[in-house]
Amino acid sequence: MRILITGGAGFLGSHLCERLLNEGNEIICMDNYFTGRKRNIAHLLNNPYFELVRHDVTEPFKYEVDQIYNLACPASPPHYQHNPIKTTKTSVLGAIHCLGLAKRVGARVFQASTSEVYGDPEIHPQPESYKGSVNPIGIRACYDEGKRCAETLFFDYHRQNNVDIRVVRIFNTYGPRMLPDDGRVVSNFIVQALKGEDITIYGDGLQTRSFCYADDLIEGFIRLMNKDGITGPVNIGNPGEFTMLELAELILKKVGGKSKLTFHPLPGDDPKQRRPDITLAKQELGWEPKVKLEDGLDPTIDYFRKLLAEGKA
Ligand code: NAD
Ligand code: UDP
Repeated sequence: MRILITGGAGFLGSHLCERLLNEGNEIICMDNYFTGRKRNIAHLLNNPYFELVRHDVTEPFKYEVDQIYNLACPASPPHYQHNPIKTTKTSVLGAIHCLGLAKRVGARVFQASTSEVYGDPEIHPQPESYKGSVNPIGIRACYDEGKRCAETLFFDYHRQNNVDIRVVRIFNTYGPRMLPDDGRVVSNFIVQALKGEDITIYGDGLQTRSFCYADDLIEGFIRLMNKDGITGPVNIGNPGEFTMLELAELILKKVGGKSKLTFHPLPGDDPKQRRPDITLAKQELGWEPKVKLEDGLDPTIDYFRKLLAEGKA
């Protein structure tokens, strides 16, 4: 198949490009390099079935493709809050352009949505039926509401124009190829521990997240995309739930060194708890994560250690 991946030079996009290319597909990887890097996909550039395009999803595009994965959007809070208007435009216009193309060429189209559509949840763990608790005027809204509107567009194109859609709600995912200065908690804590710097805990560190290893997530993507008769939304994530203090402790145990914990103000609207209910993914896709946080951290730490040794972090 010929497959378009927007945001293909990013953390998750590059893993998806690699996996789909290895399975014998032709890949068009589109990215504006806001948070993506050519080094993430440099090893694929010599493959004649891999094509790299510098393009912004907020501008229209046309390709003859069989499938579209729409991943373009900064995912880390400091990055998506850097230019919040652009973040909303990326989600909304990116969705419109992917859906318009899918409608025109009859492609199946996949949206990388997020657990952030549940906001600061009052139900725990979060099933897909939970409608969420999002502050529409807060500092996270550019991302949360942008992604919620993208989901709305996906379902309206499906109902109104019969577009073949798949929507995944991704919970916090980590692994090699995250940016060292990405600002997300796993990369921050690992890089701080490796450099012997203070570990920055926001708030009291008792807020929770559930961390999924990238390879597990990509397997879930591919199962959902290639299953007939399902639109989603489907939660994909690892139900293992940790406080940020537990995460820091685990990383410090693995890295060693003498970093100390320091406490900083909690950013606005930061969700207090998050854990996916993955009953639907298990039933419909036969999917569940295989890699425990404790095991997935090892290759992630190795990746950052190598970047630091090369002077790239
Ligand atoms: P990332 O920031 O590494 O990747 C996003 C990619 O999109 C980057 O390569 C970036 O340059 C590109 N991009 C951003 N704006 C663009 C634009 N206007 N036009 C073209 N390209 C653009 O983040 P990631 O973790 O790989 O996330 C990928 C997708 O998954 C995002 O849509 C994100 O919202 C979603 N997601 C990720 C997580 C996670 O934990 N990693 C959780 C929930 C949702
Ligand atoms: N966090 C932290 N220290 C950091 C970065 C993040 O304590 O250096 C916290 C953050 O406040 C949040 C959690 O870790 O409660 C997860 O943050 P991240 O940005 O990785 O993901 P998100 O909040 O989008 O789930």
